Amino acid sequence: MKKHILILGAGFGGIYTYKSLPKWVRNNCEITIIDKRNHFLFTPLLPEVAGASLDVHDIVEPIRDIISPHVHFIQSTVVSIDTKKQTVELPDRELHYDVLVSSLGSTTHFFGTPGAEEFSYILKDLDDAAELRNRFIDIFEEASRTADEQERKRLLTFMVVGAGPTGVELTGEAAELFFETFTDQFEDISASDITLYLVNGGDEVLSMFDKKLRTYAAETLVRDHVILKNNVRVSEVAADGVVTADGEFISAHTVVWAAGVTANSLTCSCGSFEVERGRIKVNESLVADNTNNVFIIGDMSLFPTEDGRGLPMTAQIAKQQGTQTGKNISRLLQEKPLEKFVYHEKGLLASLGSFDAVAQIKGFKFKGFLAWFMWRTIYLFNFASHKKRLKIMVDWTVNLFSHRDTTRL
Ligand SMILES: Cc1cc2nc3c(=O)[nH]c(=O)nc-3n(C[C@H](O)[C@H](O)[C@H](O)COP(=O)(O)OP(=O)(O)OC[C@H]3O[C@@H](n4cnc5c(N)ncnc54)[C@H](O)[C@@H]3O)c2cc1C
Repeated sequence: MKKHILILGAGFGGIYTYKSLPKWVRNNCEITIIDKRNHFLFTPLLPEVAGASLDVHDIVEPIRDIISPHVHFIQSTVVSIDTKKQTVELPDRELHYDVLVSSLGSTTHFFGTPGAEEFSYILKDLDDAAELRNRFIDIFEEASRTADEQERKRLLTFMVVGAGPTGVELTGEAAELFFETFTDQFEDISASDITLYLVNGGDEVLSMFDKKLRTYAAETLVRDHVILKNNVRVSEVAADGVVTADGEFISAHTVVWAAGVTANSLTCSCGSFEVERGRIKVNESLVADNTNNVFIIGDMSLFPTEDGRGLPMTAQIAKQQGTQTGKNISRLLQEKPLEKFVYHEKGLLASLGSFDAVAQIKGFKFKGFLAWFMWRTIYLFNFASHKKRLKIMVDWTVNLFSHRDTTRL
């Protein structure tokens, strides 16, 4: 009987595991991929969708376009697994596996901040990006209808909490949309009506970047009308603003929480996995502790590192872990020893909006339009389908000469 390889999650980890399975494995094993959505989502471009510089369909690829027709795809939600019975439970059935790969990603972490989940917007999924984009459009429409200046300013106060790559990229996109596109489109709204805060718990934005690039990013955002608030910790989110750890109330009609992520949990009905920092502990070959046929990869897994903190939750790590896991599945099936995963950092990139970015690649530092062009090119070539690459390239090129598309979705 054919061995059954079951892949949970068709994000970066899951898809790259599938793609790197050698031909002999694909031809001789049954392969099933399960995901709650029917598309692969290219998360690094979510801020561009929220900021209306890309269309929602630009950054997704149907899973069935990526996989071969003989591979089973089930659009469903994983409920739990049982490593003793070697089964995965879905709401309507149970599936047996011989080899399991779990790459179910992560979710927004609110750190228990009161009101954060209730009152803030997030940017984790395609729906979140579409919701934010619609919110921006709706708010500007509403503000344009009021003759009361104070009310207009209240409506047009926005805040992004968290100055890591997601917070910075979203703020850069929003700044361009608000201060360039919308101020041109709405005759009765001027730049002085709009307030866009970026609130940062640390003393600098993009803390993982080189000092010069961090400074450049902060200066660029401030030049683009962003009010940067460093060393400010949000202790509560309310319907009309936030309370800081110092007790200050900052009013904001729209708050976006981009301050943290935590791994999705995977419930094991046979007893629990070893979890630390919310992530499942794995060995150097990405196999979950106390198992020999369960690979946990991407944001979910806590890879052994010297400081015990695991590797960062990034697409490039999930992708490389997927590639390694595909190879290791082949070795496992041949009863060969597994190879250790070694992470090769390819570089750091962050867009700042307005055709500006910072990039740090193999010790070289880039900023400005050149960095933006590199950022754009590298992301483009990470798309599997030529159709999407072309579509994004056209959208970006059109954006160079025209306004963003502010059609409400
Ligand atoms: C806005 C944003 C910007 C980012 N920018 C960058 C960047 O510039 N560079 C970078 O390296 N990283 C970036 N990241 C991080 C990157 O997206 C993640 O690290 C990466 O996606 C992790 O890969 P993964 O395979 O672990 O999870 P994912 O790619 O998230 O895939 C998880 C999959 O599991 C599915 N799933 C989840 N739960 C279930 C369930 N119970 N049942 C069935 N299916 C389920 C999901 O639908 C999803 O398809 C960004 C993330 C966000 C949100």
